[in-house]
Amino acid sequence: MNYFTKAKPYNSLNEYYKQRYGKKVSKIALNASFTCPNRDGKKGYGGCTFCSGGSGEYEDISIAKQFTLVKDIIDNKWPDSLYIPYFQAYSNTYKPLDELKGLYEEAINLAGDKCAGIAIATRADCISDECIEYLGELNKKVPVSIELGLQTSNMDTSNLINRCMTNDEFVDTVNRLRKHNIEIIAHIINGLPNETITDNLNTIKFINSLDIQGVKIHSLLLLDNTKMYDDYKNNPFHILTMDEYVEIVALEIANLRDDIIIHRLQADAKLDHLVEPMWTRKKFIVMNNIDKYLRNNNLYQGKYYKG
Ligand code: SF4
Repeated sequence: MNYFTKAKPYNSLNEYYKQRYGKKVSKIALNASFTCPNRDGKKGYGGCTFCSGGSGEYEDISIAKQFTLVKDIIDNKWPDSLYIPYFQAYSNTYKPLDELKGLYEEAINLAGDKCAGIAIATRADCISDECIEYLGELNKKVPVSIELGLQTSNMDTSNLINRCMTNDEFVDTVNRLRKHNIEIIAHIINGLPNETITDNLNTIKFINSLDIQGVKIHSLLLLDNTKMYDDYKNNPFHILTMDEYVEIVALEIANLRDDIIIHRLQADAKLDHLVEPMWTRKKFIVMNNIDKYLRNNNLYQGKYYKG
C-alpha cells in the first residue's frame, strides 16, 4: 500500500499515521539516561565521530515528568492527538532487560488509551535475543517500532566515522526483529565525509534489499563538540550545499521501494553547536525545495526502483 498524496509524491509519515489511526499522532521524545556501547568500550570508544551524544535535555527529569511536559504542549495544540512515547537519546536497548521493561511499560502506561505505539532508537548490535523476544510479545499489545542507526552502507565511511558495527550485524538484527513482526526504521545520513551520490544510492539499495518499513534521512550536522569537527579542522571535507542535498534526497526517494514510509527528510539543527551546513537551520525551505524538485522533475517514490 502506498500513502502518496498530490502534495507529497512519497509516503510521508503524517499521511501514514492519518490512514492507519484516522487522526494526528505525536511522538513524545524521552531521555532515559541510556549510554552507548560505542562509547563505553563494549564496542568502541568515543562514539561515532559525528555524534555529540544526547542533548542532555531532560536527563535528570523523571520519565513521568518529561512525558507530561511534552504531552501538555501537544494537548494544547492538538487535543485529539494520539501519542507514541519515543526513547530517543543514545542506545535505548542498552540496559538489563528488567530495567528496559520497567521503562517501556511506564511510558506506555503514561500514554494510556491514547497510546498509538512505542518507538525505540538503538544500535543494531545492542539488542539481545531475550529483549527481542520480549518486544515481540509487547508488539502484540501495542505497535513497537525500532529505529536502527545505519548511516551508510559503505564500510569505508563506516570505519572512518567509527561506527564500530558491520552491515552483517545490521542485517542480522533486521531479520531477528522481523521474525516478531516488529516495524523497523533505518536512519541514514547524507553528506558524510568523502561520500558521493553513488554511496547514498547504494545505501538506499541496501535498505531496499531488507525487510524494512521506514526510513529517516538526515543531512550531516557538523557540530563543534564532536570528534568529526576536530578531524574536519585538520582535514576539511566537502559540506553539501542545500541544492546538492535536495537533489540527493530527491534521487533517494525515486530509488526507494514504494512501500517504505519516509519518517524524515531533514534533521533538526542543534543551533548551539552547529558549524555546518548553516542552511539546515531553514528546515521548511529545505522541505519545500525537496517537494519542488520532485514535482519539477516528475519524480516520485519508487520511480527508479528495480526490484
Ligand atoms: S550515533 Fe548512536 S551509536 Fe553512534 S555513538 Fe551516538 S549514540 Fe552511539
